[in-house]
Amino acid sequence: MKILVLNAGSSSCKYKLFDMTDQSVLCQGLVERIGDPATGNLTHKIAPDTDKEEKIVREKVYPTHNEAIRDVIDLITDSKKGVISDIKEIAVIGHRVLHGGAYLTAPVLVNDEIKKTIRATFPLGPLHNPANLTGIEVAEKLFPGVPNVAVFDTAFGMKMPKEAYTYALPQDICKELQIRRYGFHGTSHTYLVHRGAAYMHKDLKDFNCITLHLGNGSSLGCVKGGQCFDTSMGLTPLEGLIMGTRCGSIDPAIVPYLMQQKGMSTEEVDTLMNKKSGLLGLCGKTDLRDIHKLASENDENAKLAESMLIRSIKKTLGAFFFLLEGKVDALIFSAGIGENDNIVRAGVVAGLEGLGIKMDAKKNETRSGDERTISADDSRVAILVIPTNEELQIALTSQEVLNASKK
Ligand code: AMP
Repeated sequence: MKILVLNAGSSSCKYKLFDMTDQSVLCQGLVERIGDPATGNLTHKIAPDTDKEEKIVREKVYPTHNEAIRDVIDLITDSKKGVISDIKEIAVIGHRVLHGGAYLTAPVLVNDEIKKTIRATFPLGPLHNPANLTGIEVAEKLFPGVPNVAVFDTAFGMKMPKEAYTYALPQDICKELQIRRYGFHGTSHTYLVHRGAAYMHKDLKDFNCITLHLGNGSSLGCVKGGQCFDTSMGLTPLEGLIMGTRCGSIDPAIVPYLMQQKGMSTEEVDTLMNKKSGLLGLCGKTDLRDIHKLASENDENAKLAESMLIRSIKKTLGAFFFLLEGKVDALIFSAGIGENDNIVRAGVVAGLEGLGIKMDAKKNETRSGDERTISADDSRVAILVIPTNEELQIALTSQEVLNASKK
């Protein structure tokens, strides 16, 4: 079975075509600057990350997603370099959709009603959902007869108990505006939980873990019996940890204070907190490699950013560890920082030996792209590094939804 995964952004479109018989990637690519009247480009890789990898780059104007996806089809079905001979070979297209709102609680086969509901969630995901829906509509047109599945980044969090997802605000307003904790990076957390349980030879329903998706955007997942029990992001991805450019949780009263004192508009405050804060706001850099370098040169702001980031992760980790009453099988580190940054990983678990969390310093420092254990042999809680794979998870989920629809 071949599955195409599409992630349509406002000016970009990422895609990956899987052969699900062995979960291999037949091709993948990225179209950038869609809608830019001056220039656009498409980077297409055949058999990526293998010794047969081949790259094709097209530079041309892509007025809309329609022209971009047409070119993708052209490349994947090309008589010489194509990886399939007909688009009918694609069993299903899986689409990443950022926000499902309160009503789209699980991945679903797309129909007119679902599209209407996605449209109704635009105010909750104004930067992503319109583009995600465009991706679905273009796919419906250009791949006639191929079913489309919407995979929501919020779906993982929809299994949280009520006391985890409810905000202590007047409940009539919350109901009216669908205000609740949703959580994001749901596809990544789902993948990590499944891989973690498989890695530890545990039944999913008996598996408790804390997933640490630490990248430019970061969130922690608290997982009880294989399901989300709590998560650090909220109504939007702004809540929770300090991130590359997001401030994470702050006193909400700072918002009206800024508006009153600086005469800022809602958009300006939104941009300040989402795009100019976090590590960037603290030390002028977002990439931890730069921040570590500056910190090693004694840059005070970089040192503060480093220690605040670690503290922010540790605080949430502690909260989730207690929510699980210490019955935790594994901590699972993932994403750009979680997979690569041994300094952050070591800082987050430092001093937790008394709680049964003990790192093996050497294993932590060994670089690898594999799923691996970095805890000491006598650590009660396993510490794992699992490279995330959101596209594969979307493909697996789409396959499940398709199979279920045929029953
Ligand atoms: P992501 O959003 O998952 O792509 O993660 C991006 C972030 O991961 C970057 O901003 C860096 O802070 C961090 N990162 C990526 N590669 C490394 C690395 N080799 N060492 C340390 N941090 C890294």
